[in-house]
Formats: sequence, structure tokens, C-alpha cells
Amino acid sequence: MMSNGFAALRLTPVDRGLKIKLGSKAASIDLPINKTELIAATSALLARLQELQEAFYADGRRALLLVLQGRDAAGKDGVIKTVYGAFNPIGVQVAAFGPPTPLELRHDFLWRVHQVVPPRGMVGVFNRSHYEDVLAVRVRELVPESVWRARYDHINTFERMLTDSGVIIRKCMLHISREEQHQRLQARLDDPRKNWKFRLEDLTDRDHWDAYTEAYREMLRRCSTPWAPWYVVPADDKAVRNYLIARMLVETLESTTSVFPPMDPAVRAAAAGFK
Ligand code: ATP
Repeated sequence: MMSNGFAALRLTPVDRGLKIKLGSKAASIDLPINKTELIAATSALLARLQELQEAFYADGRRALLLVLQGRDAAGKDGVIKTVYGAFNPIGVQVAAFGPPTPLELRHDFLWRVHQVVPPRGMVGVFNRSHYEDVLAVRVRELVPESVWRARYDHINTFERMLTDSGVIIRKCMLHISREEQHQRLQARLDDPRKNWKFRLEDLTDRDHWDAYTEAYREMLRRCSTPWAPWYVVPADDKAVRNYLIARMLVETLESTTSVFPPMDPAVRAAAAGFK
């Protein structure tokens, strides 16, 4: 589907050969945008997503998995609410990853992840993911470097295996600037309805801003693969963020041939006299 007026506004996969920009400029776009038109175009994309999902669900040969990563307050919840909110909930599976439980820590790091990969027919989304095991785990020094370093290969192989089993994987890093994060965290401190969202780790992680930038860079460089590409989403502006992700998902589903399964001839024959 063409999204009129915003032809240039689209995500492109992270190219492993290029330098990945994660400065504050990369958190917003450099195009003059008419907000009203952008929001209308997003609504059209979301309606299209719902249509595409119906065929995808009925077809049932593949699953879609969107992985969302980003710093605190980057908008992961907002994308799930707005973009995944367009889908029929019957075909949606959402999984969130907090600190691992003692049982999860006794398993390999992908154990808890594999269990919640969406089954065929479903559209799934991860709010944080196995990438925390090369991000938070790296920055907070929770395991030795030799352990987290080996995980890039483990992840690429795991995602390859899922792809071969019919899971279409797309990964979005919601990129916000330090100033924007400051404003959003401040709002969580000031607004009593948002206080519950503020965690102590938000402060410590913010102190490690540069270490996270380096960890994100390496993750993007090492794990943007042809079968499971990473996209860096400029996320300072929520409307732009939602448009970009909705468009990428529409394009992904449109490039997947979904067919409504035909009726079983035996059922058709039995129903011949049905009025
Ligand atoms: P969010 O911050 O994602 O909006 P939240 O405030 O509800 O979510 P939780 O989902 O309980 O918090 O936990 C998120 C925290 O869990 C993040 O600080 C993240 O770094 C941490 N986390 C997730 N996976 C791991 C992991 N494998 N090892 C260590 N920490 C992890």
C-alpha cells in the first residue's frame, strides 16, 4: 500500500557495513512533516494491518515476531498499545521480559524466550527480549565478558532456526535522545498517575548512557541479519515512531503471501443442502 505524502519516511534495515548513528540527531527525523496528515496516514496503515492480519491468521503458516528494545521511557509500551492495538486480540501474543527469575537463571538465556515465541498464525511482540542478555547484562556486568560475547552468535543462530520454522522476525530499537528521556522520566516523577512507572534502575541505567550506547551499537552491528533485521526507529516523536513501525509491518505482511484456506471438499459436499 502506498502511504501518500510520506514516501521518504520509512525504516531501512541496519546495514552491518555502515557506521550506526545513535547520537541525539538520529532520534528525530529531518523532514518537514504535517502532523495531521501523518496521523491520518498512520490510521490508514493501522486499518490495513488489521486486514492483513485476518488473512495471516487464517493462513496459519507463519508467525510474525516484532522485537522491541530501547532505553527506559523509549516508548515500547506505547508502540504495543497503538500499533498492536490495531490487531484483533485473538491473534496477538505479547511477552515482556523483566529480570530473570531464579529458575530462569538456572537455564540457558534463551529458554524463557523460546517458550513465548508466537505460534504460527499469530502476530507476537516482545517488550524487551533476549537482547537484554547482551545489553543490561553487559552494562551491569552480570556475567563475564566471554559469556555475553558468545551470545551474539547464539542469538543469530536461534533467530535463523525460528525463521526456518516459519517465524518472520523484525526488530526495532526505539532510539530516544538523552534530553527526551530526561523529559519523560521527569514526567514520571511529577505526575502521580505516572509515578508507578519510575524505577530505581531508570536512574542507574541513565548514568550508564554511554555504556548502553556502545552495547546497542554492537548488538545492531552483530545481529542485524538478512533473516532478522534490526531497524533504528527515531523515537523522540511518538507520531513519527508509530507511523514508521506501522508502515514497516504493513510492508512486511504485504510481502508475505497469505491465502484464506479453501473449504474442504468433503465439508462443501456435506453442506450442499444447507440453506
Ligand atoms: P520496562 O522498564 O521495560 O517498561 P518495567 O518497568 O515493568 O518494564 P520489568 O519489565 O519488571 O520493569 O523489568 C525491566 C527490567 O528488567 C529492565 O531494567 C531490564 O534491563 C531488566 N532485564 C530484562 N531482562 C534481563 C536479563 N536477562 N537480565 C537482567 N536484567 C534484565
